[in-house]
Amino acid sequence: MAKHHPDLVMCRKQPGLSVGRLCIKCEGKCVICDSFVNPEQIVRCCDECSYGSSMEGKCVVCSAKGVSDAYYCRECVLLERDRDGCPKIINLGESRTDLFYAKKKYGFKKR
Ligand SMILES: [Zn+2]
Ligand SMILES: [Zn+2]
Ligand SMILES: [Zn+2]
Repeated sequence: MAKHHPDLVMCRKQPGLSVGRLCIKCEGKCVICDSFVNPEQIVRCCDECSYGSSMEGKCVVCSAKGVSDAYYCRECVLLERDRDGCPKIINLGESRTDLFYAKKKYGFKKR
């Protein structure tokens, strides 16, 4: 149901205390489904996505400069998507390759 590009991968680590941020372009939309209505639950990011100098205060969707707090919409809270962990998009660049190799390794292990 998510309208983000299917290739986008979210961090999904255990959220910490810091509030997720959105940039001026992404402001007001749900971080999961891009809905602009019924913001319900504030977004919490994991420590790793909050304290790194490159990540701090940045938009969780596109990593631009954050200007407002990020929210999950009511629908996503009902579906408990807010409990899936840190929603920061992390596959801009090398993390995608990491994931690919991680999957491959797992495949070898299984055999
Ligand atoms: Zn994270
Ligand atoms: Zn953004
Ligand atoms: Zn939503």
